[in-house]
Formats: sequence, C-alpha cells, structure tokens
Amino acid sequence: MEIKNLLAYERPAQYAGGEMFSVKKPWKETRIKVLLVSPAVYQMGASSLGLGILYHIINSRPDSLCERAFMPEPDMREAILSGKEKFLSLESGRSPRDFDLIGITLPAKGCFFDIPGLFALMGIPVSGRDESYPVITAGGPGVSNFVPVEGFFDAFIVGDGEEVIGKMLDEALSSSGRGSLKRALADIEGVYVGGISGSVKKVFCQLKNDYYPLKPVIPNIRTLQDRLDIEVMRGCPNNCRFCEAKRFYSPLRVRPAEDLEKIIISSLENTGWKGLSLSSLSTPQHPRIGEVVDSVIPLLRKKGISLQIPSLRPERKSLECVMKILPLNQVNLTFAPETFSPRMQEIIGKTTPLDEFEKMMAEIKSAGFRDVKIYLMLGLPGESDADMDENIKAVKRIRKTGLKVTLTLSPFVPAAHTPFERVTLWDRGEMEEKLKRFKMELRGVDLRHPSLEDALLESALARGDARLGAILLDLPAVFTDSSADKIRILDEAGLDSV
Ligand code: SF4
Repeated sequence: MEIKNLLAYERPAQYAGGEMFSVKKPWKETRIKVLLVSPAVYQMGASSLGLGILYHIINSRPDSLCERAFMPEPDMREAILSGKEKFLSLESGRSPRDFDLIGITLPAKGCFFDIPGLFALMGIPVSGRDESYPVITAGGPGVSNFVPVEGFFDAFIVGDGEEVIGKMLDEALSSSGRGSLKRALADIEGVYVGGISGSVKKVFCQLKNDYYPLKPVIPNIRTLQDRLDIEVMRGCPNNCRFCEAKRFYSPLRVRPAEDLEKIIISSLENTGWKGLSLSSLSTPQHPRIGEVVDSVIPLLRKKGISLQIPSLRPERKSLECVMKILPLNQVNLTFAPETFSPRMQEIIGKTTPLDEFEKMMAEIKSAGFRDVKIYLMLGLPGESDADMDENIKAVKRIRKTGLKVTLTLSPFVPAAHTPFERVTLWDRGEMEEKLKRFKMELRGVDLRHPSLEDALLESALARGDARLGAILLDLPAVFTDSSADKIRILDEAGLDSV
C-alpha cells in the first residue's frame, strides 16, 4: 500500500501490508478481483476468522484474487477525505474502484452508522452507481436485518459465505458487466439483490477442511484477538429465547475432532502463535472437546502456548473443560447465566440452578482460580423486584466461595428474529433505579454495565427500517462514535428505540 507519509499516522504498520501469509497475486493475469473491506479498524478486524476464511477461499482459485482493506483510524480518515492520502488495498495498493467485486463485512448492526463514511473514504457513492463501479456486497451477522442499509449495497449474502462466494465468482467470470452480474447474483440461493430478488432464504454450509485457512494472515500489529482463533462449531445446541446469534448461525454444525486436531496443530506450526482460542457459541458443548484438548495439550505445553475457551455455559461440562486447561493459563473465566431467578430462567429458556452453580464456583476456587466474571441481564421481559432479589442473593452467595466476582449487568435488548422481537424496551428511569440498587446491595463487587445509550441504540438498530437508512445517508463522512449523539439523531428524526 502506498501511503505518502506513513510514519505520520497512528500505528503506521496497519497500512503497510506485506504481512506474513498475505497473498499478492499477479493483477493482469487474474480475471476476477475481489476486495474485502472491514468497517472495523485493522486492530480490531485484521484477525477476523470470517474474513480470513473468505480470503483463503477466493485466493485458492486460480482465476480470482482477493485483497483486503480496513477502516482507517481517525487521523488517516481525515487525510483521505482532505485528499492528502488515498484509501487503498493492502496487498497491491489499488483503489477500490479497480476491483470487480467489493465485499463489506457487517459484524453487527452498530456499524451501519459507519457505512456512509466508509463509502466516502473508498470514493464510491452510496447509491446511484453506474456500470463503471464494482458490485458491492455485504455479509455477516449485521445483515440479519439489512433493511436500513438495503439501498447502499448491490447484494447481500444472508448466512454462510463459503459456498456462496464460489458461485458469485463463477457468475462474475461469465457476466458482461455490473447489471448482468447483479441479475445473475439474484439467482444464487442466499443472495438478495435489491429491486430484483423477491425474498431471500438464509443459507448454511458444512464446515469443510478445504475452507479453513491453515496459514492465516499474521497481522503487522497487535490486534484485539491476539491469538490463533479456531472455530470448533458453528451454531448453538441451546435455545435461549433472547438470542439472535443462535438463530443467525443455525443449524448446529460440529467440526469433527480429528479435523480439529489437524487444523490446530498445522495452524500453530505454521504461524507460531503463542495463544490459542477454541471458539464457538458454546465450545464446552462440542461432543468431543475433551479429546481434542487432551490431544493438543502436549504440543501446547512444549511450546508454551496458552489456551482459552470462551463462551463457558454455566454448567458442569464447562467446568470439566476448564480443569483440563488450568495448567495452560486460562486467566479469565466468564460465565453468562443471565439471571438466577428460576422464574426468569423459565421465560428466557436458559436454566442455571444456583446450588449447582455455587458448587462449581467452589470447585473452581479450590482448583486455584481467584477471579470469575459473571454476566447477568437486567430488564428482561416481565422482570420483577423479586427476580432482582434472586440475582442479588445469588451474587452474595457466590462471593462467599472466596472468588473475586466481576459482575457485568447488561440491559436486555430485544433482538430481531427472536420471540422477544416486539417486546417493549425497559423504561430508562426504571433501569437506572435497578442499577443503583445493585450497586447499593453489592458494595465491594466490581460491577460494570454498558452505557444505557449503547443499549438504546442497539435496540433502534435491531428494529430499524428504511427510515433509518434515510437518516444514515444524511450523516457526515466522519461521524461521531458517541451512542448518545446517534440516539439524538434518531430521536430528531422521530425514530425512537423502544
Ligand atoms: S447458549 Fe449462548 S449462543 Fe447458545 S442460545 Fe444461549 S445465549 Fe445463544
């Protein structure tokens, strides 16, 4: 990537490209050129597994090449918008307009606010593009309600991208231009093209080894996920009624233990990462996770590699997993029972008997752990004072095990495509009272909660429609990160979050 004055910017290596295992294919000789763009900055997006999988699949084809670009940091954004620098791909330093297809990943709906700015940085109009522009697609969990940004993109991939991307490249090979490609894309299952498709059905694929990058790009700078991330399953075997992720990633697909062992060992040997994360929506529920962990522990020990298993469900299987990896420095143990009120557990479809959980915490303490993080939700549908009492009582009991408890209270947000989709959001004043009460009753507990503005904004975005898209179009290219400012804009436009 050619930046005129690279060292003048924050974390300059993020714009340099040339990372180990990045792929630079001959431009002229390769027929289809794809640019994957992340609306997250490099530090957050460079180790994204989803992006890595598509990068690997596209570059594995002799007829196609794939390059990457990330949202620049604020100083670079200003330089690009003032004409001092250009938004370029990392591999060959080309403008987005030089590519045939641009794929923008939408990891969450929160990034909708950044999309108009991203288009401005790329030098591409958000709408009204003529034949000279690439076809611009979006995919990822953020498209679960794409209505607000429908007018910005030529096509949406709804569901898994692994097989769809191959079909899109096949169509690109035989298309005669932007218009004909859009019409062809509309015939692919799982692709929605505005103005052509009537509806779209979510697609899913099997987790084939061929799709998995055994040599993932190693970022030039330390990233948020500073370890090798291996996906052990996709989907979730549970059915919590508030959960959008379960619905987006369904059905459940389990990577066979033998495949996992090969992927873990090859990837670690290729990359030299000193940290490994076995990720999914509920890793301890992989039916053979114990075997997988046992089989790779000797290598991890020999090479001093730490292992983390996120998404611990508050149940015994999680405990068994944790005990296996105790010598490998899992520093954070995080459990999300959501509520300890049996009545609310029934309503949300997630059961965590307190007696059993307390026993597990005691075992964790005896095994040598000192800290535990617990996530609870506040403002669940039908929640009463008595339910709050149950939560407070439970946290007090858990503290008696001697563990240091960090408690995160997340305001409940009704998610699209869940049974709670149309539930009325909590009243802000009542939520503030609830938080105050927790702080009073649980003095000494490290208590955290996301800002209420973030939750209100998430609610508005989850249920937003085309009116929200019209608001986004009017935003300036460099836009505030403040949720409060974003809510104010929605309020002024008559769109509230409840
Ligand atoms: S266990 Fe987690 S991912 Fe699975 S359905 Fe429940 S909340 Fe969703």
